[in-house]
Amino acid sequence: METPEQRIKIAVQKTGRLTDHSIDLLERCGLKLTRSKDQLILYGENMPIDLLLVRDDDIPGLVSEDVCDLGIVGLNIVEEKRLGLESEGRPALFRQIYELDFGHCRLSLAGPDGHQYEGPESLENTKIATSYVHLLRNYLKTIGVSAESVYFSGAVEIAPKLGRADYICDLVSTGGTLAANGLEEVEVLLDSEAVVIQTQAPLGDQKQALVDKILQRLDGVLQVRESKYIMLHAPRAALSEIRDLLPGSEAPTVMPLDGSDDKVAIHAVCRENVFWETLENLKAAGASSLLVLPVEKMLA
Ligand code: ATP
Ligand code: ZN
Repeated sequence: METPEQRIKIAVQKTGRLTDHSIDLLERCGLKLTRSKDQLILYGENMPIDLLLVRDDDIPGLVSEDVCDLGIVGLNIVEEKRLGLESEGRPALFRQIYELDFGHCRLSLAGPDGHQYEGPESLENTKIATSYVHLLRNYLKTIGVSAESVYFSGAVEIAPKLGRADYICDLVSTGGTLAANGLEEVEVLLDSEAVVIQTQAPLGDQKQALVDKILQRLDGVLQVRESKYIMLHAPRAALSEIRDLLPGSEAPTVMPLDGSDDKVAIHAVCRENVFWETLENLKAAGASSLLVLPVEKMLA
């Protein structure tokens, strides 16, 4: 019988930008989930893995305190919490173990449109509104500028209009929100994406083996997103030219075609998207009967 301690607990954002992607990725790793009545936990039916649905800001703490074994959270939150704990003289008891390639954004400094910005020295003696006080302080220290950080827990972008700050330091993805608020990005402090963090406490062999298996499956899931399986016929003489045209493919499989001495069938996995231009170039090189298929799973 498996005890609750043997189950892996993963902290995932309850509702927000990371929620759907996080759950979708784990489901694509083969995890089947059912929701608890109170909607706070997703139970793994076919693997000893449960998801705890929490606020993203709480995820590093839950992993650090060993309440959860793993967490899926933005690097921005991970770094802010790590610096926060270290500033209190406490080590962060979690480590980043995997980058998930979604939730991309950056922590940036922005000032009102048309303001004079001549580089980081323009920040000297200004007020900067942010919810990322530790990352901001750390940045100002590195560049040797003294400025006052003004804490805002949300709606940071209205601070300059309210006369509460000269600049803001906040997350940006497309820049649309900044533009809508008459703000202009001037510096990037951190490039962020969703990452997996793991507690520093040893998990035990069985749990660690399952974590490793999930990470390997994540590799497969992330790799196949862009990957395509391509099949075509080609004259044997054009083989090396065609091989060079196949985007991001390793050794393709080359097979003789029944009833033809000089034509072969080529099958290859391309780890990048295959665009129409590539197909046209392959055709120009002598390929025919081209077929491009999506790849569902891959295990290297
Ligand atoms: P919670 O209720 O869990 O505290 P939240 O409002 O803090 O939610 P979201 O707005 O859902 O969080 O953002 C979660 C994460 O998504 C961010 O910490 C960041 O890593 C990532 N992200 C990606 N793009 C953006 C963006 N344009 N603005 C804010 N966060 C973004
Ligand atoms: Zn949050």
